[in-house]
Amino acid sequence: MADERVALIKQANDIVDVVGTYVSLRPAGQKFKGLCPFHDDHRPSFDVDPRHQNFRCWACGKYGDVISFIQEQERVDFREALELLARRAGITLEKTTNSPQNRGRAFMLDVMRWAADLYQRCLLESPLADSARRYLGERGLSGDTVRRFGLGYGPGNGDWLAQHAANAGMPDDILVKVGLIAPRKEGKGHYDFFRDRVMFPIRDGRGNTIAFGGRILPNSPSAATVGKYINSRETPLFTKSEHLYGLDQARLAAARAGYIAVVEGYMDVLMAQQAGIAQVVAPLGTAVNARHVQNLRRVGVPRVLLVFDADAGGHTGVDRALEVFVSQDVDLAIATLPEGFDPCDLLVRQGAEAFRAVLAGATDALEFKLNQMVAAEAASGIEGRRRAADAVLGVIALAPEMSGSAGAIKQQLMVTRITQRLALKEESVWARLKELRTRAQAIQRKSVGPGSVPAAPPAPPAPEEKELLQVLLAEPALVGVSAATIRPEQIQHADVRELIQGLYDLQAEEAGLAQLPAEKAFDRLRAGIEDPRLARVALEMRAIGLQQLGRAAWLERIVEEFHRKHQVEPQRQEIKNQLRAVGDDSAALELLRRLQTAS
Ligand SMILES: [Zn+2]
Repeated sequence: MADERVALIKQANDIVDVVGTYVSLRPAGQKFKGLCPFHDDHRPSFDVDPRHQNFRCWACGKYGDVISFIQEQERVDFREALELLARRAGITLEKTTNSPQNRGRAFMLDVMRWAADLYQRCLLESPLADSARRYLGERGLSGDTVRRFGLGYGPGNGDWLAQHAANAGMPDDILVKVGLIAPRKEGKGHYDFFRDRVMFPIRDGRGNTIAFGGRILPNSPSAATVGKYINSRETPLFTKSEHLYGLDQARLAAARAGYIAVVEGYMDVLMAQQAGIAQVVAPLGTAVNARHVQNLRRVGVPRVLLVFDADAGGHTGVDRALEVFVSQDVDLAIATLPEGFDPCDLLVRQGAEAFRAVLAGATDALEFKLNQMVAAEAASGIEGRRRAADAVLGVIALAPEMSGSAGAIKQQLMVTRITQRLALKEESVWARLKELRTRAQAIQRKSVGPGSVPAAPPAPPAPEEKELLQVLLAEPALVGVSAATIRPEQIQHADVRELIQGLYDLQAEEAGLAQLPAEKAFDRLRAGIEDPRLARVALEMRAIGLQQLGRAAWLERIVEEFHRKHQVEPQRQEIKNQLRAVGDDSAALELLRRLQTAS
C-alpha cells in the first residue's frame, strides 16, 4: 500500500464526518462530543478533534485516528479499514480480485449491494416476478416505498442467484460467506438460500446492505412447508441481536421526533414509513435488548417506544422491557395497540392518526408493569400490594445494575414510585429489593460456577522498555540510533519487543525510513500489525511519546539505561562472583579496581 494512498484516504475522510455516522456528535468548543461507542457510556466522554483528526475517550481511554476508529468499530484490520474508508470516499484501491485481503468486509458489502440490485431489478422488470408484484400491490405498498427500501424478488427455481453470480464472475465462497447461497449436499454447484421470496434488504445505520429478510409468496408451491419469513443466518456482516430493520431510514426522523418506535415486522415498518411516520424500526427475530438500546442511544435517540399487541406481549415481553429499562440509561416506554390489530392493519384500516394516537399513549416500562400488577392484585389488600411489589422488584433485582450516579438516581426514583403507587413503606421496599438481589446473585454465582476467575493481566513492561517504544513511535527517524545499540532480545516484554522488532524491520527494509514524515512511517508500521490489541498499544504509546519534547536526548537516556542494565550490571555481577571465589589479595584488588571503573 503506497503511503500516498493512506494519506489520501485520511484526507478524504474527515474524522468528524466518519464518527458522526456511528455516534451523534455535538460541537463543544473546538471539538465535538458524543457517547463513546467502545464502552457503555452514560455521559458524553468521547471527544473528536477535527484539528488533529483524532478521537479520545476520557472514560475508557480509547484513542486514535480515523483509521483506528474504523478498525475498532468494524472489528477489521488496518488494510480492511482503509478499504472501507476508500470506498466511502469513492477512491479505488488497486485490487487483484483473488487476493485474500479483498475477501474482507468492503468486498462482502459490494457483493450484498450487487445482490440487492439484482433482486430489485427482478422485482421491477422480470416476468418471473409477476405474482410478487401483485402480492405487494395487494398489501398496499407504493412503488416509492418499494424503491426506498430496495425491496426485491428472489425467483423460485433454486439457483437463480447462483447462476447470475457465476455469469458475473462473483466468487462462490463470498456468496456462501454472506449467506446468499449454499453448496448442494449432493452433486455439484450451489443453491439459493432465498427462493420464491419477496426480499427485504436489511441495512446498517449507514445504509449498507448487510443481510436480507425474505417472505415466501402466499401462492408459492412450498408456502405450506417453509417458514413465512426467514432472515439471513448470522454472518461476519450481520448479528441478529444487534441490528434493527429500517434504522437507516428512521434515524433522521427519530432525531427530530426525540424517540424511535419499535414494531414487530418489516411490513409494520414499511406501512408506517409510507404513512409519514418514519421513526419506526423492527428487531430481527429477537426481542429488544440492551445492545439495541445502546446502539440507539449512540445515534442520538434517547427515548424508545415498544409497540405491543393488546395482550401486551404477555408478561414476559413487559418483564424483558422492564429489565432493559432498569439496566440502561434510556427512557423506555410501552405503547399498546387496540385489540386485534397489528401496526400494519391499524395503518391500513384506520390511518396514520390512529397509529400516532397509540404512540402518544405510551407509558414508561415501570409504570406499565405497576399498572398491570395493580390491576391484577387490586382486590386483595395489603397482601396483594406486597405481591405486586415483589413481582416488580423481582424483575429489577435480576437486571444488571446501572453504574454511577445516574444508576443510583434511577434506582431511587423507581423505589419512590413503587412506594407511592402501592402505598408501602420506603424502607421495606428497599429491604425487599436488597433481599431479592442477594438471592439473585447467589443463584447466578451457582450457575456460573468456580473456575471462571479472570486471568491476571500480564506484567507491565519495564519503564525503559515502555519509553523506548514511546520515543521511537513518536519519532521513527530515531529508529536507526536505537537499532545500532539495543537488540530486540534485550527487551523482556513481548508486546514491546514485537513492535520494536517491527520498527527495526521497516528500517532494514527501507533505508529511507528516517526521511519519511513521522506520520507516514507510523502508518506503514501499522499496516503490518495484525493483532488489533497490539495496534492499540502502538497508538497509545505513540500518543504519549508525541507529548514529550527533546526526544533525541530522551532516547540517549534510555539507551544509557539499557546499557547499564544489560551490560554494566551483568559485568559487575560477574566480577563480584569472581571476587567471592578468589583466594589471593592481589587478584582481589585488581578485581575491585575493575569493579569501580565498570560503570
Ligand atoms: Zn469509552
